[in-house]
Amino acid sequence: MADPSLPEEKSPEGNSIDSASSTHRQPGTIVSRRRLRVCHECDLLLALPSINPGEKADCPRCGHTLVRRHTNPAERSLALAIATLITLALSVAFPFISFDISGIGNRIELTETASTLIGQHQPLVALCVLLTVIVLPAIYLLSLSWLCLGLLSRHPLPRSRQIARTLRHVTPWMMADVFVIGTLVSLIKIMGMAHVELGLSFWSFCVYALLLLLTTQSVDSDWLWFSLEKEAQAPAGARVGFAASEQGLAGCHTCGLVNRLPESGKGRCRRCGEPLHPYRTGNQVTLALLAASVVMYLPANLYPIMITTSLGDTTPATIIGGVLLFIQNGDFPIAMIIFIASVLVPVSKMLALLWLCYVVRQQQRPLSRQKRIRLYRITEFIGRWSMVDVFVVAILVALIRNGSIMSIEPGAGALAFTTVVVLTMLAAMMFDPRSIWQGAEPPAHADLSSTGSRHPSKESSHV
Ligand SMILES: [Zn+2]
Ligand SMILES: [Zn+2]
Repeated sequence: MADPSLPEEKSPEGNSIDSASSTHRQPGTIVSRRRLRVCHECDLLLALPSINPGEKADCPRCGHTLVRRHTNPAERSLALAIATLITLALSVAFPFISFDISGIGNRIELTETASTLIGQHQPLVALCVLLTVIVLPAIYLLSLSWLCLGLLSRHPLPRSRQIARTLRHVTPWMMADVFVIGTLVSLIKIMGMAHVELGLSFWSFCVYALLLLLTTQSVDSDWLWFSLEKEAQAPAGARVGFAASEQGLAGCHTCGLVNRLPESGKGRCRRCGEPLHPYRTGNQVTLALLAASVVMYLPANLYPIMITTSLGDTTPATIIGGVLLFIQNGDFPIAMIIFIASVLVPVSKMLALLWLCYVVRQQQRPLSRQKRIRLYRITEFIGRWSMVDVFVVAILVALIRNGSIMSIEPGAGALAFTTVVVLTMLAAMMFDPRSIWQGAEPPAHADLSSTGSRHPSKESSHV
């Protein structure tokens, strides 16, 4: 295991892997076969420069961040993970929100947002809420603490390799920050008609959501994998500055190591054991998932997402119906949030991905590659925010139920809409951004930027 206190760019032999001056190397220069990386977004094979804490290495062609270095990464991640776990424990231990209408009210804890949905015959939506808000973040934080404790004691704890592999898969599905927005929307919805009190858990949850974001950003997976498993040399003959797929190579999306792809196109990473990503030029899986999400988007909008019963009067509300209700009540900002999260984001995401798949297949260039990759990044980033409406339903159903003057139940649209969010997220994950760069010329040269980020070396060179 590498000494976590040492600069990470030192190889186990103590040699600097690739110096900053290497970015000015002439094409054709032999480079070390250590510390080669494949850009996951444009498929360019690159040699990492030396990166100091506080610096990052961006791909010189597409701008994708390959490595972000932190000071004392193990101590930093461990401290953040423990603090986040404490706030999570506080978030589930105390009352979350309470409300009161003319002496009749209810007080809920965080876990009831999921458990009430089970009682209302929506176990899948409940599972989704429970996983994204509590369970997956808890698994992530415990796994990270386990890894950091092992690295700090200089002896990785048992099963560290398997645990490190789970981090990348869990990260996109943690949605505590989206849940905070969902809670705020729910509160604004009921504040006009009831007296609302925020419990200790609500405030701890807000801190938990913020700390969870900071924790995920603190993880330097390049350093983590080097410390856990060191780093084998890249395959012989790897040519930096050219597309990896053209050389039969693939960069591992989990640990970053460059591997040779077997003839079958399917293989596993030599260092972490994760399946390697073969080039998905047609993006057929993305298209299939998009088709499924388009089909599910119809019931998501046609069926009510929640049903409100007030003094014997039952009012089912679809997503659009909910938006119109907020507008009628003069709550324009909330109407806007729900409209953006539940209508604009999923629809524009589906259209953007369909368009990207189409232009990639047709080899058309209506936009520059830089603009297309930016569009892809936006679709990937915004997808999870559509869960706001699902969380609003979960919170309102838990809070306003049985025996109150008013009660709210989830509608059939809730499950359909949750499925749309999950399917569109999977579609964006399965889209292969490398297909955007198919046939692109290698970049001319890279310069070090003065903003603390460094471009890896990608001059044409043969190893
Ligand atoms: Zn790139
Ligand atoms: Zn790997």
